Amino acid sequence: MALPEHGMSKDEVMAALQAKRARDVRWQEGRTFGMVYDGGPEVHEVAEAAVRMFLHENALNTLAFPSLGEIQSEVVGACAELFHGAPEASGFMTSGGTESILMAVKAARERGRAERGITAPEMVLPESAHAAFHKAAHYFGVTVHKVPVRPDWRADVDAMADAVNENTVLVVGSAPQYPQGVIDPIAELAELAAGAGANFHTDACMGGMVLPFMELLGHELPPWDFRVPGVTSISADLHKLGYTPKGASVIIHRNKELRRYQTFVFQDWLGGFYASPAMQGTRPAPPMAAAWAVMHHLGIEGYKRLTATTIEAARRMEAGVRAIPGLTVLGEPEAHLLAISVEPGAEDQLDVFAVGDAMLARGWFHDRQKPPDTLHATVSAGNAPVIDDYLADLRACVEEVAGTRLEDRSTNYATLE
Ligand SMILES: *Cc1c(COP(=O)(O)O)cnc(C)c1O
Repeated sequence: MALPEHGMSKDEVMAALQAKRARDVRWQEGRTFGMVYDGGPEVHEVAEAAVRMFLHENALNTLAFPSLGEIQSEVVGACAELFHGAPEASGFMTSGGTESILMAVKAARERGRAERGITAPEMVLPESAHAAFHKAAHYFGVTVHKVPVRPDWRADVDAMADAVNENTVLVVGSAPQYPQGVIDPIAELAELAAGAGANFHTDACMGGMVLPFMELLGHELPPWDFRVPGVTSISADLHKLGYTPKGASVIIHRNKELRRYQTFVFQDWLGGFYASPAMQGTRPAPPMAAAWAVMHHLGIEGYKRLTATTIEAARRMEAGVRAIPGLTVLGEPEAHLLAISVEPGAEDQLDVFAVGDAMLARGWFHDRQKPPDTLHATVSAGNAPVIDDYLADLRACVEEVAGTRLEDRSTNYATLE
């Protein structure tokens, strides 16, 4: 494992890296339902050119790199506009959904302390809320009330109301939530938070770059953005259905006063005045520049086109799954996520994880999730051309594994090594 004494040539290095990729999922063929979101060859070209241009820059200090300050404020401004923020809406780019969520929780904790004197902060989450909220609670010392969801997998407003108290600094809903892809009742949840004087965060990490374009395409959706009065912050991942390379998300607050609770400023260091918007110190410029590039290359029209393709593919996939005897889709997902499950009553004859493994052997990758046992699918434009092939293979795999139950029930959304 040690470094070679004598350095390798560029060709040797690249060949060695290429060899390491042999067993990676085949996202380039549209066979991966999550993790990589493929906007097509032109989008790749634009992103790669921007990455190359900004590869060595650092957004730690945007006074040294005003370009990156502009890139950040233009990307955040464009998102604030898409989410119907007023002109005072403001935020930052972050490295991803997790960092955006960490900052939403931190800002809520600080506001609770400053405005309401809360020293033992609590937050109320539906059990569908992303694991990153639990990570934030762990990092920032916030107590979590994790509330069961309704039978339709949406957040249960009454049950969440019962968990709100005088120490509540944050209530959370998702648009849509990750496990089953349904949109929580954001308007009711945000009202609940406002009534308690707490922040409300809409986690639109998945939906932020999809729902605005679905609305423009004429889909009827429940309200989830800054048009809902109690929503104080929104997270949206550009590196998911924004089709930008990994390392790009936004956290947007309703106004600058709320945003102030996110930032960190330190005056008393021998190194000088230190101000930082989020978790990172040194901040890689390539994801920021590539996000700006892809978003401006696609424009509203490009995103409408990709969204139309994605939603058509997701509905075709959903209908196809439901048509296979023994399989179903949980709930009624509004957007581009599906949880594939065994039909109620068929559990003795069919194991959805066995179906997943058989599909993997044919090159199709789903994350396993539970409870309940399901295969996760985040559909994006890159999957659209192969949905019919997928459904044919899925039907064959269901027949192939009927009656098999796997010992291994493990689910890994993420790993340590
Ligand atoms: C992906 C996702 C996150 C976390 O984002 P990362 O970019 O993986 O850190 C949070 N919430 C939802 C709903 C997501 O889909």
